[in-house]
Amino acid sequence: MSDIIQLLPDHIANQIAAGEVVQRPASVVKEMLENAIDAGATKIELIIKDAGRTLIQVIDNGAGMSATDARMSFERHATSKLRKAEDLFAICTMGFRGEALASIAAVAHVELKTKLQDDELGTQIIIEGSEMKDQSPCACASGTSIAVKNLFFNIPARRNFLKSDSVEYNHILEEFNRIALIHPEVAFTIYNNGKQSVLLPPSAYKLRIIALFGNSFQSKLVAIEENTQSIHISGYIVTPNGARRTRGDQYFFVNKRFIKHPYLHHAVDKAFTELIPQGYFPGYFISIEVDPKTIDINIHPTKTEIKFTDEKLIYGFLNSCIRKTLGINSLTPTLDFNQEQYFNVDQMPKDYIPKAPTLNLNPNYNPFSNPKPDKPEYRHNSDPMRIDFNPDFLPDASMNGDSQILPPTEISIQSSLNITADSEKYFDASIFQLNKTYIVTKLKTSILVIDQQAAHERILFEKYLLRFENSTTIIQQTLFPQTLNYSASEAELIKEMNTELFRLGFDIQEFGNNTFIVNGTPADIEDGEVKNIIDGILENFKNNLITQRLDKDVNVALSLAKSTSIKQGQSLTEIEMQNIIDELYACQISDTSPTGKKITVAITEDQLKRLFNS
Ligand code: ADP
Ligand code: MG
Repeated sequence: MSDIIQLLPDHIANQIAAGEVVQRPASVVKEMLENAIDAGATKIELIIKDAGRTLIQVIDNGAGMSATDARMSFERHATSKLRKAEDLFAICTMGFRGEALASIAAVAHVELKTKLQDDELGTQIIIEGSEMKDQSPCACASGTSIAVKNLFFNIPARRNFLKSDSVEYNHILEEFNRIALIHPEVAFTIYNNGKQSVLLPPSAYKLRIIALFGNSFQSKLVAIEENTQSIHISGYIVTPNGARRTRGDQYFFVNKRFIKHPYLHHAVDKAFTELIPQGYFPGYFISIEVDPKTIDINIHPTKTEIKFTDEKLIYGFLNSCIRKTLGINSLTPTLDFNQEQYFNVDQMPKDYIPKAPTLNLNPNYNPFSNPKPDKPEYRHNSDPMRIDFNPDFLPDASMNGDSQILPPTEISIQSSLNITADSEKYFDASIFQLNKTYIVTKLKTSILVIDQQAAHERILFEKYLLRFENSTTIIQQTLFPQTLNYSASEAELIKEMNTELFRLGFDIQEFGNNTFIVNGTPADIEDGEVKNIIDGILENFKNNLITQRLDKDVNVALSLAKSTSIKQGQSLTEIEMQNIIDELYACQISDTSPTGKKITVAITEDQLKRLFNS
């Protein structure tokens, strides 16, 4: 048999290698912005068309390249940043694998124009799918401009894999934020589809954060600083009352590179425990400088993960640095009577939501076999079927909505009976709330337990979908229009949702500079709640975009339903509970929430009998 092994042609090898570096338009943006920073640019422009599908261009005023370097820069493993193996451990610049440009050129049409500061003429290079089409001298500004067109033109599978424009553009903005934040001395501009959408003059770090994330951060940022011989921590944390329901404002930089580090994140999170309500996330923009020899950046191809030689030490420094800062700024209650202030309504942070009291769950406890419960939470005297519960053994009320609550016994529980709106007559007045989480009522021959949050999400979801169909929504004009300020990527999402939000009753006007004015809301939303609700919609909408492919109106209806629903831990009056039951059984689907959670559990008389006889 003849030999069969062959070397892959270069262009195929390059395409394969490119897959590691270039996953989506945002990866190109990241690599090119980093190169511009490495070249010492003080002014960088980013031009995007069609979320990067048609064009991604970065223009910088950095060092530029000679004609030979310009040609070399597209070769694989061509880099000016690494001369010998030891440099790998001392490198402080952003990239050093010399792979980015080669990879980008393998999967796009690339036009490079570059000129050294002191040269008269620059160089122009055109490459298509790794194939050099033209190299010639050209007149151009000092610095470098690289235009990447028709990304993945030769890999249709990759192109099809890209998500909607808004998702891809959001990824781009996220990469952009990660670089623009930590280089406040550099001026940045973004032109998106021909319009200038971000303009950042050189500024101090704090001002850069505010420029990117909105004016509301002005009063919420507290500086942190901690220096030791081996580590330097600086940056800003967001005060506890500025904590938001979105996880977005969390940035770690190590040696001026954005990184993700769950362990260090925990160090910050821990410092904020007890200071922010559940479901809210602390915000931080933290820069850590360490000797490059003590970190290994190269463990992940996209370089957002790093390993420290001594992680525990850094964890300790970071945690104590933040706790100290919170303490110095009196952001943390130190004495008991200070803590009381949180319960003084006037002094409560505006968007503070009191934490539900927590109870310990004993999964082995069987409420049906406890002969003498200590404290019956509810006893309906006229009810022949008396149920006594011991609240001390109920599931933890603070569990978040997605956790599964363990059934207290081994009985198999029927998820729903065939109940329709007609079954209303089976309900009687005996209805109560269990642990501020469940509505419990009785049917003719069974006990029905309803998850209040899941039920309300279903009710609202169907209500909002109906509003889309009927377009009869009434907008309630607000007396004092509220101004809301967001980060560029959040602002994009609001713009994306705005038509749908309008149809649901929100009158939100774009005011430029990522600012919006809320002139009106649906009649069932209170003015004071607007910011929280829109934050909640944003978080849900963004998560749904990433995890599910929903139609936009379904996504907006779902996000609004999740944001405005009654939550676990909320007390309900008997009338409210009755309304929920009535509305739930008027829904088209009444046994699962829009995200697939079980809403009702029924325990039949038969099941009870079996329990008693076992
Ligand atoms: P790396 O950044 O890892 O060195 P790249 O493929 O990103 O690899 O870039 C290859 C080389 O091209 C760089 O080392 C640098 O010398 C040069 N280069 C790339 N972009 C620029 C730019 N915007 N300005 C000046 N030189 C650049
Ligand atoms: Mg690079």
